[in-house]
Amino acid sequence: MTANHTTAESNTQSISAQALTQFCDDYLSTSAFKDYAPNGLQIDGGRPIQRIVTGVTACEALIDAAIADNADAIMVHHGYFWKGEPAPLTGMKGRRVRKLMQHGISMIGYHLPLDAHPISGNNAKLADMLGMTITGALYPTESHPVGNIATCTPQTADDLIATMTQALGRAPLHISAEYHADSSAQTNGRLIERVGICTGGAQDMIEQAASMGCDAFISGEISERTTHSARELGIDYFACGHHATERGGIQALGEIVAQKFGLPVTFIDIENPA
Ligand SMILES: [Zn+2]
Repeated sequence: MTANHTTAESNTQSISAQALTQFCDDYLSTSAFKDYAPNGLQIDGGRPIQRIVTGVTACEALIDAAIADNADAIMVHHGYFWKGEPAPLTGMKGRRVRKLMQHGISMIGYHLPLDAHPISGNNAKLADMLGMTITGALYPTESHPVGNIATCTPQTADDLIATMTQALGRAPLHISAEYHADSSAQTNGRLIERVGICTGGAQDMIEQAASMGCDAFISGEISERTTHSARELGIDYFACGHHATERGGIQALGEIVAQKFGLPVTFIDIENPA
């Protein structure tokens, strides 16, 4: 676990959980997204917020770290109450919610709006980290699309792997496009220049990236089927880690909140190899 204080000067200010959430909702255009979980205030800790901890996922380790930091709120990319999950607050879910409520800690979650934001989103931040320029959307006909097309200086897969390893602190899992049954596909020795990007568990968007003419697709996770898709579609695939690719957005949002309200915001990275 590593902690990274982004701003931590005055600790005399406070804000209500509702006002904090309203600001973030507006900044991220939350109401425009159809999502798999509620965006915004998911758990109301019932007290004014003076200290904030941010993290990728509202797991028990992050809650314990927030308690140790005397935080009044945690802000995350992966909160609770996902579509289809059992509703009862029992077991692991019950423990997490009980701990937050007992310590009066609010929990605020932003999912797709935090992937998609053009400046502070996970995709935008990943593109920045990899030295790429976003040029458009992976699904250009959708009103609030998630996933982007980006360009980079033409480079080999090995060069890109070196950049990713440096930027994310871990090597990606790379599936080369080089195998292709159709001899008309020219992927051998091709340089990568046009790239699809969608952080997290977006591996199945690889087909869309191929149809958009990308040389490579970058996401977090990989499935068994992704290997075959990459080879048969003639597109390089880089699985850079779900956690590793989704640290940027919530840190950026934390920095904006820290600046806006003058509150100390600490990003806490709960190590996760997946
Ligand atoms: Zn995710």
